[in-house]
Amino acid sequence: MLLQFIQALYIVAAILFILSLAGLSKQSTARMGNMLGMVGMVLALGATIAHSLHLSDTEPHRRSVGVTLLLILVVLALGAVIGTPIARKVEMTQMPELIAMLHSFVGMAAVLVGFNSFLAPEGQAGAVHLVEVGLGVFIGAYTFTGSVVAYLKLSAKMSSKPLVLPGRNMLNLGAFVVFLALLIGLVSIPSASVGLGVVVVAAIALIGFALGYHMVAAIGGGDMPVVVSMLNSYSGWAAAAAGFMLGNNLLIITGALVGSSGAILSYIMCRAMNRSFISVILGGFGVEGGTVAASSEDHGEHREILAPAVAELLTEARRVIITPGYGMAVAKAQYPVADLVHRLRASGVQVTFGVHPVAGRLPGHMNVLLAEAKVPYDIVLEMDEINADFAGTDVVLVIGANDTVNPAALEDPSSPIAGMPVLEVWNAKQVIVFKRSMATGYAGVQNPLFFRENTAMLFGDAKDQVEKIIAALPAKVPA
Ligand code: NDP
Repeated sequence: MLLQFIQALYIVAAILFILSLAGLSKQSTARMGNMLGMVGMVLALGATIAHSLHLSDTEPHRRSVGVTLLLILVVLALGAVIGTPIARKVEMTQMPELIAMLHSFVGMAAVLVGFNSFLAPEGQAGAVHLVEVGLGVFIGAYTFTGSVVAYLKLSAKMSSKPLVLPGRNMLNLGAFVVFLALLIGLVSIPSASVGLGVVVVAAIALIGFALGYHMVAAIGGGDMPVVVSMLNSYSGWAAAAAGFMLGNNLLIITGALVGSSGAILSYIMCRAMNRSFISVILGGFGVEGGTVAASSEDHGEHREILAPAVAELLTEARRVIITPGYGMAVAKAQYPVADLVHRLRASGVQVTFGVHPVAGRLPGHMNVLLAEAKVPYDIVLEMDEINADFAGTDVVLVIGANDTVNPAALEDPSSPIAGMPVLEVWNAKQVIVFKRSMATGYAGVQNPLFFRENTAMLFGDAKDQVEKIIAALPAKVPA
C-alpha cells in the first residue's frame, strides 16, 4: 500500500515537472512553471524519504528507521546551510558559474551511486545492471570534471583559452575506446571477483574524469554558453543513469527531461551562433574573454555623444529599439531602462526590445532582467522577430551589448565570430552604444559598429547614463 502511494506520488511529481517545463517556455507563464516545479520537488523529496525509510525497514537492508531518518535530515540540513546563503547572494551575472558548479554535484552523485550500487549485496548481478553502473559512472565522472572546468573558466579562475593538445581528437577517441573495453570487461568479470570489479569501475571513473577535463578545457570562451547547456544535458543523463541503478522511475523521468531539454537548448544555441554541435564539443574555438581590443586593424575614429543629446534624439524619435547585453546586467541598469521605456511610450514613442539568444551570460538572461524590472513581455522580441525592423527605426540604444551586435560576424569571414547571427542594429538611422570604454566583449573581438557613421558612443556606467537621460528628458515627456 505504502509503495503504491509512493509510486503515485512519483507520477504526480513527474507530471508537475513536465508542466513546469511547459510553463517555463513562455515568460508570462514562467512564474507558474517555477511554482509547479517546486511543488513537484517537495513531493519527490517526501516520497523519496518515505521510500528509503521503508527500504531500511526491509531485508536485506534492515537497520533502524530512526538512524536512516536522522542521516537524511543531517544531509538535508547541511545542504540547506551551505546552499541558502550562496543562492541568496549570487548575482544574476554569476548564475552560469553556479549552474556549472551544481552540475558537478549531479555528476559526482552519479559516480558515488555507481560505486554504491556495484558494492550493494545484489550489485554484481546481471549484465544490464553492470552496464547501467558503467555508463552512470562514466557520464557522471565526465560531467563532474567538465562542470568544474566550466565553473573555473566562467569565474575567470582559469584561462578561458582553449587547451589545444596535439592529436586531441585522437586522444578523445582513444579514451572512448578504452571506456568501451572496460565496460565489456566489467560485464564479463565473474560476480565473485568484487575486488577486480571495483578496480574496473574506478578505471572507468578515471577515464571519465580525464575526458571531462580535457574536452571542456579544449573549448574556448566564445562557446561557453553552449558548454554550460551541454553539461546541463549530461547532468540529466547522469541523473537518469543513477535512476536506472537505483530502480527509481522518477529519477529516470527527471533525468531524461533535463537531459533532452539541455540537448535541445544546446542545439538552439549552436544554431544562434552558427556553430555545429559537433565542432563545439570537439573544441579548439574561442578566445580569452573580456580583453582589450587586440586587433591591429584600423577601424577609424569613433564619435561620442552625451546623455542630454541622447534625450533629445529619443524625444524626436518615432521608433526606438533597445538591444540589451551583458553590460546592462553588470550595471543593473534594467530598472532605469524600464523607467525610460515607460516615459517614452507614454509620450507616444514606439519602443521595443531586441534580445539576442546569447546576450548576457546565460540563456534567457536579458528576459529575466527585463521581467524583473516589469517591462511588458509583448514589447520584448527575439532576434529573428526584430531583425527586419531596424531599417525603419530612428534610434537604437545598444545598452551594454557588444558581440551580439557586431557586424563583423556577417561581414568578415576571418572574424572568430564569423557566421554568428547578430542583431543588425546598424541598419537603423542612429545607433547609440552604451559602454565604459572601447574594450571588447566576451569573445575578445573588436566591433566595427563603434566606428560607423551612424553610431555614437555614450561612455560611462549604463545605469548612470540612462538615469542622466531620464533627467534630461523635456517636461512634456510624462513621468
Ligand atoms: P559582451 O560580453 O559582448 O559585451 C558586454 C559589453 O558590456 C562590454 O563590451 C562592456 O564594455 C560593456 N559593459 C560592461 N559593464 C558595463 C557597465 N557597467 N556599463 C556599461 N557597459 C558595460 O555582451 P553581449 O551580451 O553582447 O554578448 C554576450 C557574449 O557572451 C557573447 O559572446 C556570448 O557568446 C557570450 N556568452 C553568452 C552566454 C549566454 O548563455 N548568454 C554565456 C556565456 C558567454 P566596457 O567594458 O567598455 O564597458
